[in-house]
Formats: sequence, structure tokens, C-alpha cells
Amino acid sequence: MFKAFGIVVIAAFPVLAQDGSIAAERIREHTRFLSLDLLEGRGVGQRGGEISTEYLATEFALAGAKPAGDHGTYFQKVPLVGIETTPDAQLSAAVSGKSVDFRWLEDFVGVSQRQTPQTRFEGEAIFVGHGITAPEWKWDDFKGVDVKGKVLVLFTNEPASNDPAFFDGRALTYYGRWTYKYEEAVRRGAAGAILIHTTPTAGYGWDVVRNSWGRETPFVKLAPSPEGAPAALAFQGWVTREAGEKLLALAGKTVDELLAASEKRDFRPVPLGILIRGRMPAKIRDLDTRNVVAIVPGSDPKLKDEVVVFSAHWDHLGIGTPVNGDAIYNGAIDNATGCGILLELARAWAALPQKPRRSALFLSPTAEEGGLRGSEYYAAHPLYPPAKTAIDLNYDALFPWGRAQDVVLTGAERTTVWPLAQQIAKRLNLEISSDAQPEQGHYFRSDHFSFAHAGMPAFSIGHATEFLGKPPGYGQKVWEEYNSKHYHQPSDEFQAAWDFTAVQQAAEYGFVLGMEIANQDKLPDWRPGDQFHR
Ligand SMILES: [Zn+2]
Repeated sequence: MFKAFGIVVIAAFPVLAQDGSIAAERIREHTRFLSLDLLEGRGVGQRGGEISTEYLATEFALAGAKPAGDHGTYFQKVPLVGIETTPDAQLSAAVSGKSVDFRWLEDFVGVSQRQTPQTRFEGEAIFVGHGITAPEWKWDDFKGVDVKGKVLVLFTNEPASNDPAFFDGRALTYYGRWTYKYEEAVRRGAAGAILIHTTPTAGYGWDVVRNSWGRETPFVKLAPSPEGAPAALAFQGWVTREAGEKLLALAGKTVDELLAASEKRDFRPVPLGILIRGRMPAKIRDLDTRNVVAIVPGSDPKLKDEVVVFSAHWDHLGIGTPVNGDAIYNGAIDNATGCGILLELARAWAALPQKPRRSALFLSPTAEEGGLRGSEYYAAHPLYPPAKTAIDLNYDALFPWGRAQDVVLTGAERTTVWPLAQQIAKRLNLEISSDAQPEQGHYFRSDHFSFAHAGMPAFSIGHATEFLGKPPGYGQKVWEEYNSKHYHQPSDEFQAAWDFTAVQQAAEYGFVLGMEIANQDKLPDWRPGDQFHR
């Protein structure tokens, strides 16, 4: 079966070598336009975001890619709600005769998932360690204890490990992500879940937690349920380590003691004998936004019902708090570069004289910066069924700093595509570099993850880390500079001197990989035993 691919590849290469080939200059121009001040940082629910989505739709149409959205348009409507907990939010913990009140932002942050302007709750606190049930590693923090209606108190992260056969060693698994903790709390019918923050368990300081939860957060609108209120936590939040100590002291416990207990396989939930009460008033508004989506149909009468998805989010942070007098968060690298690639891939794919067997879907999700909301919505309302979705190949923030020597493919090794991914890298003269910070859980932080979470194989084709003709360590240096000075800042702006060769290479890599997958006899899958295997 593998041999057959050779024919396809030979057919693919002349395309890349001709006039119709993927061009750095076209990607550059899309990037330049989408990051102009005129587009006001492509904010969700802002005018610049609307113009950006019209631009993407227009370019898809000019490329010859067909509309794949609602009612014959290039748009998939995404109904979100923006929720901002107001500073008069209250959280307290009490035992007989004693109580502690926590202060908003100083001690706690969080939000009600119920999408109502006033949420009150009250429940017994129960400490559940890391809150993980992972049968593949024979780990269960709950041990069958019923936590319905209770307020879970827990730590983020997972049991410490250097053994690849236990929670993937040093790498963070999805069980260690705070998003998993709240999902598990919902599944178990808890009233709320409070994470005690520590810098080592979170991987970042309290300021990061406070800044991300102390403002409006978009959520996918809860579907009205015939049985009444949908399952949702009255409170998902965090407290500081100091506030956590005060809370646990009411039960005669300490943070260190419970951290140590939660590292043990025989850990059992600890009822704390504390009553937690809260009131979470919130400002709520509808955020009507949209994904942009186009398709190039496949050539095989049967396989064209199946799709290879390419994705790159269009949104950035819009107009926000000024930094050095600049309030426009242009998001040139994050993610005008990815949008430029997406448009160029659609153009090159639509220009192929002989189309691959499966169809190619080009998806630009909204509200990635607000927590992967556009792709979450897509995965819940897919235009093609998950079982007919071959893979999602995602682009988010590519580096235009010369000719790449490598490509980062976090998560490709989890899928059956891995040998092919390696083979193509070799052919295109690219090394595959592994994620330098596996403990940061990058795999869970961009749109491909929404596909993975719903069981579809998916990964991102990431930025280069080594550039040709540059001294060793150059890639690391420019990455650190970008990350500390420009990432999510108004200064993420287009520079005329940028060299888009590496971005073109990442696009070519995805083009060839996507085409091979579109022509394979079998759909890709997860490796057996993977957490996202369905
Ligand atoms: Zn991004």
C-alpha cells in the first residue's frame, strides 16, 4: 500500500515547481493586509473582525474554492456569549463558628458556566487531588466517591513522572490541563470546582491566572435543554496558594500535605467538612461571530465525501489596552501568517489539474484567542461527520525569519500519519523538531485540539526553530524575543524586511502531507491506546 504513494508524490512535485506553486510572496501579501491597522486587530465582535472574514471569503472565492458554510455561504455562524464576572463576586468558606471571605482578583477568580447574570451556590467542599480518572494508567482520584452537588477543591497538573509509560513522563497530558478538571467536574455533577494555584503545578504565576479570568471570556452558547438547566458548573475558578492555605486550615490541613497526598495512587477524596458559598454576578452579552469555510471537492466519487481539513484562526485581540500609545493588537504573526498560508493552500489546491481523491476543507475559526471557541463550535457542529474527517492540519503563528531547517509537529506522533509525516519531511529536506517544552502542553492550546478532543486526528504544523545560514541558537533567540516582547502585544506588527521562505516551506509541507492523506486508501487514526482514540 505504501508503494502507491510514490506515484502521487511525483504528480505533486511538478505542481510545487511550476507557476501555480505555493509562493512566499502571496502569503506575505495576505499577512500584510490582514495585519494592517485598518483591520483593527481582527477582534471578535468588532468591525475589523468582520472585514477580515469578508476578505477571507472573497479570497477563497477568487481562488476557486467553493462555499462550505451556512446556506451556500463561506460562513458558519458561531453563537457565543461573552461573560464577565463583576468585581462584587463573593466566595467564602465556613466551618462551625469560623469563616473566611475571599477577595476578588486578590484571592480568587472564576466564572459561572451557567450563562445567567446571577449565580448563587453552596456546597460541601471535597478535596479530590488532581481530579483525574485515567484507566490507561490505572489512576483514579475519585475512587467511586459521589461528588454530586459538592464543590471540588483540587490542584491542576498530574502526578509527577519521568517515566514515559506513566502520564507520558515529563510531557503534560490532557489530564493535567485545567480544562480537563472542569470537564470532569461537570461529568460528575459537581456544583463547582476550585483549583488551588501554585506556580509549580500551574506552570505560571497568579498574575497569568488573574489576567485571563479577570475579564470577559467567550463561551459557546449553552443549548437549551428540554430537561431544564444544562449540566454546567455554578463556579469554575482558582484561588491563590495563600487563599488555599486559609481554606484548608479550616479543615486542619495544609497545601503541602495535600499536594503530597495527591501524588499517591491510593489517594482517596478527602471531605473537608467546609461549606463553600458563592455569588457570581456577571455581565453577559451575545457575541455573534463566524468561522470562514471553503471546500475543494475531491475527484473520487466515493472518497470525496471525506475531508482533509486545513485550519488557521482569523481572530486576534482587536483593540485593547494601549501599550506605548498603540491600542491595535495587529496579530501579524499570530495569526495573519496562518491565514496567509490557508488562502495560499486553497488557491494551490483549487488550481490542481487533477484533484486528490478526498475533498479539502479550508477552515478559518473565530475566537481562538478566547479559548478555541470557533473550532470547539465547529467540532460540535461539523460540516462533515467526524468519522469522515481524515485529519485537521492547523497553522498558528509562523515565523518569517529566513529559510527553515526544521518543522515542529507536536502531536503527529500520536497518529498513524507519523511515518508519512517523517517521510515527507525527509523529502522536503526538513528536520522534525520535538517540542522543547513538553511540560507546557502546547498540544492543547490551538485549534487542532478541538478536533482531537472530539476524536478526530489533528495536529499543528508549527514554526521553524532553526534557520539556514544563521548561527546555532538563533531560532531560540528570536523565539524568546517574539515571546517576551511581541506575543499578544500591539507590537506584533508586519515588518517589510520579513523573509517568508520558512512560512512557504511550512505551507508546502502541509500541502504535500494533506495531498498524500487525501489520496490514501485508509483514513488516518490515532495510535492504539491514545487518550483521544474513539
Ligand atoms: Zn494564534
